[in-house]
Amino acid sequence: MDFRFKDYLTSPFELWKIHSFMKKAPFYSKEKMDNITLVRLREICKYANAHVPYYKKLFKDINLNPDDISCYSDFEKIPVLDKNIVIENFDDLQSDEKNLGAVLCETSGSTGTPLHFYLDKKINMATFALFWRTWDIASKWHIGCRQAMISGYAEGKYQYKRKTRILALSSFYLSAENVKEFYDLLIKYRPKFLRGYPSAIYLFGKLLEEQKLKLKFTHIFTGAESLLPFQKTFIEDYFECKVIDHFTHWERTASICECNCGRLHAQNDYGYHEILDEIGKPIKDSSVGRLVCTGLFNHAMPLIRYDTRDLASWSKEKKCKCGSNFPIINKIEGRIEDVILTPEGRLVGRLDAAFKYNNNIKLSCIYQKDVENITVKIVPSDAYTKEEEKLLLTELRKRLGTQINIHIEYVTEEQIPRTPRGKVRFVISEVPREKKFGHY
Ligand SMILES: [Zn+2]
Repeated sequence: MDFRFKDYLTSPFELWKIHSFMKKAPFYSKEKMDNITLVRLREICKYANAHVPYYKKLFKDINLNPDDISCYSDFEKIPVLDKNIVIENFDDLQSDEKNLGAVLCETSGSTGTPLHFYLDKKINMATFALFWRTWDIASKWHIGCRQAMISGYAEGKYQYKRKTRILALSSFYLSAENVKEFYDLLIKYRPKFLRGYPSAIYLFGKLLEEQKLKLKFTHIFTGAESLLPFQKTFIEDYFECKVIDHFTHWERTASICECNCGRLHAQNDYGYHEILDEIGKPIKDSSVGRLVCTGLFNHAMPLIRYDTRDLASWSKEKKCKCGSNFPIINKIEGRIEDVILTPEGRLVGRLDAAFKYNNNIKLSCIYQKDVENITVKIVPSDAYTKEEEKLLLTELRKRLGTQINIHIEYVTEEQIPRTPRGKVRFVISEVPREKKFGHY
């Protein structure tokens, strides 16, 4: 995540207001927060009705006047907004107000068509305040402290940004050949905090381990893709620090962040989070459904009840010892595209669990071309044995059933596909969403 500094440095008071609200919001009672959120949802709907042609037409079609939204079930009458609708109605989804400081953004399009959308100055400020709160979880963190980042953002192999004191290392260059150079840079700049994609930080740790190099951090912040349990365990052990996972996305409607008690809180002060079943009804228990979110800050292109294409479930726990009253998510299952559909018609997510006995795999990726076949691409370390392959196949079979063909392919780090932003996706399934969709 990179920030446009001019967006918030020029409005310090606005930023301070958002920051102060976000500091208090987790500790408001559930009732108080529900009331605040409902008012904000009504306001964003009223704004969309007044300034955004797509919503003007939609509210008319469904015969809903946003002024009349007085409870959550009124709000739930609004149909879910899918990525395809955003692509098809791109022009009509933009606000007619021109002074919002909107900037055109794009998601990586790792699953097909890239998605374009506008983000305004306010959401950029709110996102900075949001990350500020997350980094604040680490006791020694303060604005302006030195940090390192492994992601696809660095221009070239690496870059030290003096203004922000961030050492940016490019995940595209993470390889056995470059790891010593990255290590030397980290020794030189000594950042206490590291942030980046979990897959990149995990691979970095594995490469360091192989070359018997050791690094320690105070905290590591992961985000932008699901943090898999085996990655978390390894990263925390190897770098001897706590990992804080913060799930957000480019569209800026969702924010699910881990607290110091290890629970994932849906941060309803940034975006409103819902989990919906296959017919679009909100799920109240802990079954898995689609994560649908409403952005509460962005006016340039409001996304109301936006289908994030991620699957998640609520926790049975209603209270957390950290004191936050934000609802607790049990698990983010991953994207619908990241779930394997078996020939028996079952959807299987979180396949990382099948790798839990394999300590000698540096990087892996599961690719499903069609319902009958999957290919597991593996970058083994020197200590990898045939026994581990057998073990992995047994574990995969337990989860995927007997009918699917499992092919194992040994590859180099460079042969593992990356998204344009340098992320490694653990599962890539090309089985059409429509085929899977009936299941959720
Ligand atoms: Zn908590």
